[in-house]
Amino acid sequence: MTIRNVKTAVYCLVAVSLALVSGCVSRAQNSPSRPIKVTVDATHASSQKILRSDLEIPVGPGPLTLYYSKWMPADHSPDGPITNLTGLKFTVNGQRIAWHRDPDDMYAVHLDVPAGATSLSAHLDFLLSAPGPTIDFSAASSSKLFILMWHEVILYPKGRPANEITFEPTLHLPDGWNFNTSLPVASRSGSTVNFAPVPLDLLVDSPVQSGEYLRVIPLAAGQKPTHEVDIAADDRWALDIPPALIDNYNRLVAEASALYQSHHYRDYHFLLTLSDHVLFLGQEHHESSDDRIAEHTLVDPNGRLLDADLFPHEFTHSWNGQYRRPAGMATPDFQQPMRGELIWVYEGLTDYLGTVLAARSGLRTPEQTREQIAALASMLDHRAGRSWRSLQDTADSAQVLYFAPPEWISYRRGTDFYTESVLLWLEVDVTIRKLTQGQRSMNDFCKIFYGGPDGLPIIKPYVFEDVVSTLNQVAPSDWRKFLRQRLDSLEPHAPLGGITGGGWDLVYTDTLNEIHAARRAVSGGGDYTASLGMVVQSDGTIQDVIPGMAAEQAGLSPYMKIISVGGRQFSIEELSRAVQDSPSATGPIAILASNTGTIERHNVAYRDGIREPHLKRNEGTTDYLDEILKPLAK
Ligand SMILES: [Zn+2]
Repeated sequence: MTIRNVKTAVYCLVAVSLALVSGCVSRAQNSPSRPIKVTVDATHASSQKILRSDLEIPVGPGPLTLYYSKWMPADHSPDGPITNLTGLKFTVNGQRIAWHRDPDDMYAVHLDVPAGATSLSAHLDFLLSAPGPTIDFSAASSSKLFILMWHEVILYPKGRPANEITFEPTLHLPDGWNFNTSLPVASRSGSTVNFAPVPLDLLVDSPVQSGEYLRVIPLAAGQKPTHEVDIAADDRWALDIPPALIDNYNRLVAEASALYQSHHYRDYHFLLTLSDHVLFLGQEHHESSDDRIAEHTLVDPNGRLLDADLFPHEFTHSWNGQYRRPAGMATPDFQQPMRGELIWVYEGLTDYLGTVLAARSGLRTPEQTREQIAALASMLDHRAGRSWRSLQDTADSAQVLYFAPPEWISYRRGTDFYTESVLLWLEVDVTIRKLTQGQRSMNDFCKIFYGGPDGLPIIKPYVFEDVVSTLNQVAPSDWRKFLRQRLDSLEPHAPLGGITGGGWDLVYTDTLNEIHAARRAVSGGGDYTASLGMVVQSDGTIQDVIPGMAAEQAGLSPYMKIISVGGRQFSIEELSRAVQDSPSATGPIAILASNTGTIERHNVAYRDGIREPHLKRNEGTTDYLDEILKPLAK
């Protein structure tokens, strides 16, 4: 998953699964039971922001426990939106049945089904919301569109794995609206859509995008399986995305096929939502991705640059995260806890491969990709939290770190298993190339690790040793030691071996990093990580300071709001000018800041000018990075 363009930058939540068959988890039902019928009335989604759901659940008499989904695979967290479940009511043959919530498990309800009953009727309403300051997955609709995530509108009985519970879904759409989804359709009559029977795990993995303004763009014409971009937007103009971008998306499909050499889906849908009224995210699924960005993003060069890896990242998850999933995250239903111990592979390798595929498909130029790597390397090299928290601990803590605020992120560390794993896997890639004199690479790892029969969306779990053994197949080395050293390290500096081994050095100049420039243009804030040791929002609010660096040593801290710089009213331009002029200044940078209403003066002793990260070519060495970013597809 990725939460995009909020103050934090997270990536991806995935989706579902499972029943072990020869090491794989099938999404097909092994022992059919009577299906649960679910009918979702979405006709009020755009007006009242309510989804109404009716379920017919086959039952027998006696005690019954029903679950509301808690652990969402793509979220890596126990964050099922239970607080927005309302209007819950059960009946048998028209008679109301009492229910009570489990005192320990907020996601379980208990009932006593009367004698003679064979079917239980359940009704619930799900309250949609609007984007707020925190992550809210219920923010999934506007007046012109919505994204239906089935786990929000269903209950399922305790006792069977998710792949052995069949649903028959029906969806009522607002008049005149259409829809897109990877879910197979059985029939349609007007605004009512009947989907084919589907196991619970695949249903939850198959969101539906619906709206007034939709556009379907087929990709890689003539190729099987089929791929398409499905766009929903708040207005018609936003559907008209740049033709060059469509060309890049076509190249992305070709590059992913060349890299993975397999397809573990029947067809693939990029469900792209362009709206300012939903949570911005990228959420991976096996046969689709739920990609939501601001309405103007694709017509804004800065927006396109910052979100260039959205499709490559989420598409990669179909192989890495969906088809291959860490055993600790391949749970039988949505109530069992998931372990994040291998999320540096699930999300981290996906972030690396997404970065590579964005370059290979032309979504970012090689130069822009180097600027992206330099920006994240600098950020990670200034993580004060490296002194107490390993990369492995950020992975183990994934389920809580997604919801941590961006304030104090350097000292706390955030979901670094995304960004730092880009450096880790770049170093793996470079090391393989060096060990084999350029004959082998992570491309070979991908071919082996993600190989298997094409077609059905199955899940093949793995453990740490499977990663090590696959690396050893590609290029024998002590990969266990290599990985453990980087995962368990408390070294103060980021692992830059992939950059230096790839023929480049991380350097600092007074030229604004291109990614920082795009972020500044979009958000208005300023990133002074490598100079003052501070990140500031456009209104002067300090988002983060880095312990040990100038801003923190002057007593500044997150949540303070800068009022003036050097006697002049605050603006990002004034602060940047003070940093630029600092080498010739006669004294410290004087900052007035509000600390919860009290105005304080802070003298920032800084004299090193603007320090912006870039990669500089180390002439005379092999340029492996350039090789990595070159297109593979013919
Ligand atoms: Zn992801």
